[in-house]
Amino acid sequence: MRRIASRLYDAMGKKQGSYESESMSKSRNDQNYTFWLREHPSALTSFVEMIHMAKGKQIIVFLDYDGTLSPIVSDPERAFMSVQMREAVRSVSKCFPTAIISGRSREKVHDFVKLNSVYYSGSHGMDTIGPAPKKNSYDKNYQKKTYDNEGNEFIVFQPAQDFLPAIKKMLTEVKERTRKIPGVAIEDNRFCVSVHYRHVKEKDYERVEEEVKLMLANYPDFHFTRGKKVLEIRPSIEWNKGDALKYLLETLGFHDSGDVLPVYIGDDRTDEDAFKVLRERGDGYPIIVSSAPKETMALYSLQSPSEVQTFLTRLSMWGIENAATTHR
Ligand SMILES: [Mg+2]
Repeated sequence: MRRIASRLYDAMGKKQGSYESESMSKSRNDQNYTFWLREHPSALTSFVEMIHMAKGKQIIVFLDYDGTLSPIVSDPERAFMSVQMREAVRSVSKCFPTAIISGRSREKVHDFVKLNSVYYSGSHGMDTIGPAPKKNSYDKNYQKKTYDNEGNEFIVFQPAQDFLPAIKKMLTEVKERTRKIPGVAIEDNRFCVSVHYRHVKEKDYERVEEEVKLMLANYPDFHFTRGKKVLEIRPSIEWNKGDALKYLLETLGFHDSGDVLPVYIGDDRTDEDAFKVLRERGDGYPIIVSSAPKETMALYSLQSPSEVQTFLTRLSMWGIENAATTHR
């Protein structure tokens, strides 16, 4: 039926969407979403059955930042999290080891989150501050010890350190190249450079990508990935958010433990690498934040950051009640 209508409208020179009223298209989207929810059930409605599996296991919480803990906003410098969300993350981190893995620089995420009870991994996992175990299997050349104000020891792990001089050069170059395209915003995320085009006119999108591609032709050790209205230039090393998750699990002492239950919540394509790691391990909960159907490796879903907040609050309430199986 739809195909016939579409052909008819094509013949009349109208766009396919134009015969569909707004309410019809909304109901079609709702239907698609309902169908998608069957494959990726809500982590809120599934909470009881999810948590049932957690008994006797150590839950570890991994969170993305933008679009997960904070709403996506038009100015990336103003992606603040709410006081209530900060409280929810604080509560969950008191019950379970918690890490935030973001595409932003580690310092910037810390400035947004402002909690000392969580671990931070910035630049898509290429800059991680984590526990300092006696031994780990990762390259010592890229690890250095650091201490907090109370003298607690941590390790900063930066597997892409060798790429820093080239990234600095590219940062200047990409600014120069995109200077004449109105609306481009370049963000220095330490081990990656983000080229935001949310405020660029649609007709100029291609120009932005073209400039990035032209520049990268001179930097064969780098590539770019696409995020939400952003191109992210990053070193071509085998390292992503999923690797950061594995690294943190190992340094927390749970690398090959069967008694661990990692939960990862994220909304972006780069989070899929972490979802994949959990699917391969077969022992955790990958949860995507999305209010529309999309292709994902996640098993569960949450609609919005506010649902993430509710989920974290319920999780910490359960953690407090079941304190015997938690880490502190
Ligand atoms: Mg995100």
